[in-house]
Amino acid sequence: MKTIVCTENERMEEILRACRICFVGMADTDGVPYVLPMNFGYQDGVLYLHSAQEGRSIETLGRNPRVCIAFCPSAELVAQHDEVACSYRMRSESVLCWGKVEFVEDFEKKVEALDILMRQYSGRAFTYGAPAVRNVKIWRVEIEEMSGKAFGVPYKA
Ligand SMILES: Cc1cc2nc3c(=O)[nH]c(=O)nc-3n(C[C@H](O)[C@H](O)[C@H](O)COP(=O)(O)OP(=O)(O)OC[C@H]3O[C@@H](n4cnc5c(N)ncnc54)[C@H](O)[C@@H]3O)c2cc1C
Repeated sequence: MKTIVCTENERMEEILRACRICFVGMADTDGVPYVLPMNFGYQDGVLYLHSAQEGRSIETLGRNPRVCIAFCPSAELVAQHDEVACSYRMRSESVLCWGKVEFVEDFEKKVEALDILMRQYSGRAFTYGAPAVRNVKIWRVEIEEMSGKAFGVPYKA
């Protein structure tokens, strides 16, 4: 089985959209990494995330806004020979996105981001109370670089 590098943006977007969560990697200025599972929305090359107004992630991003976000929809254990340990693989796909977090402060733009997030999970539209919109922190990450790989692909495929 082999690993294939995926270069088509459309395929990478499909992998992103198939995910329910992502893993947001941050790096503090002392080099200490911090990775959080989070929900997300994706539209037109931009990732949207939401959080509380305060916390370690907000402090870390205040010092260094650069992130690397990992996506992996699911993974299936496969083997070419049941008795051969090194023939076992995870059949799966994953995408990594790099960019910088900008916090969205404009009320209408926050609502747009919440719509993108909620539509991705529920497929429907919502209205939001003004205090809820004011209290939520919206993260906007324009994707600067993206890479994709498919793992455990059969040689015949
Ligand atoms: C499937 C899933 C989806 C999530 N989606 C979101 C989302 O969309 N938005 C959102 O804001 N949060 C989400 N969370 C929670 C998120 O992972 C963080 O816990 C949360 O954002 C608080 O982060 P913080 O840096 O403000 O933590 P703080 O409250 O400042 O954390 C204090 C300390 O708690 C520990 N800690 C924080 N988070 C975690 C964690 N996830 N696991 C283990 N230890 C932790 C760390 O040691 C940290 O230093 C999700 C969690 C899961 C499991």
